[in-house]
Amino acid sequence: MPVPLQDILDRIATQMAALPDKGQVAAYIPELAQVDPNQFAIAVALPDGQVHTAGDAETRFSIQSVSKVFSLALALGRQGDQLWSRVGREPSGLPFNSILQLEHEGGIPRNPFINAGALVVTDAILDRNQPREVLGELLRFVQSAAEDSDIRINEHVARSETAHGDRNMALAHFLAAHGNLQNAPALTCGTYFHQCALEMTTRQLALAGRFLIGGPTSPQFPQLISPNSVRRINALMLTCGHYDGSGDFAYRVGLPGKSGVGGGILVIAPGRASIAVWSPGLNAQGNSQLGTLAVEQLATATGWSIFG
Ligand code: GLN
Repeated sequence: MPVPLQDILDRIATQMAALPDKGQVAAYIPELAQVDPNQFAIAVALPDGQVHTAGDAETRFSIQSVSKVFSLALALGRQGDQLWSRVGREPSGLPFNSILQLEHEGGIPRNPFINAGALVVTDAILDRNQPREVLGELLRFVQSAAEDSDIRINEHVARSETAHGDRNMALAHFLAAHGNLQNAPALTCGTYFHQCALEMTTRQLALAGRFLIGGPTSPQFPQLISPNSVRRINALMLTCGHYDGSGDFAYRVGLPGKSGVGGGILVIAPGRASIAVWSPGLNAQGNSQLGTLAVEQLATATGWSIFG
């Protein structure tokens, strides 16, 4: 008889708590540097509406770059394939905040999940609207995906990043210099920092990811984007969702995933489940150290890898 999912999650949480090396919290955003690294949570939302959790699954954390999945979903919904004239679909093989390829490739970021690409996506949804309106729309998108209105943007985190956002500002200015930014760099960056400051629990993130499970539509949760977009966003998560750690994540876990420097990862088992994992300590590529290990163990225990 297969081991019940809840038992698998409990066992993973116990094992993670016992590991001494939790990785390093992101120090370049002061608000994140204060987060206790000794926290871990995992949540699995199933298409039938069930949610299983273990660990600190009711603690809110900053989803940071996991938000790039939601902004991309909005941008594709609004602009469709037009978006791809401004941003590519190839893994970068470089750190998330690198400027190198922008110089070589004429201001077209490699993909929508590295910072330069995410700035373009945010700039595209910003269009000529007010940041407040666009952020409200993004927040409502995430809230309706999770079917939970108790999700918010943490102003302290947004301000903390704004005060130390020189690198992203440099990326935005570089994009502007190449004619690939519609709004003033400070406006696009400000909107992006607020988007990254979205805050929710691990349980809420797993629920919010259900729109990417795909497969037969379920009356249990809202279909927010087209099946085509679901497939394409999953493909990008698999190839680019972990920056220069994307190959290693695909090798170890075998599922599309998107990480953030707050220590969260949203992982999709296509047709089966939306998985969220959180542990604030990061590995050398800026992806959650224990989070990666935990989803690796989950994929092994469940056989959910897309590669069989
Ligand atoms: N807000 C962060 C930044 O732009 C997001 C990076 C991340 O989560 N990888 O640096």
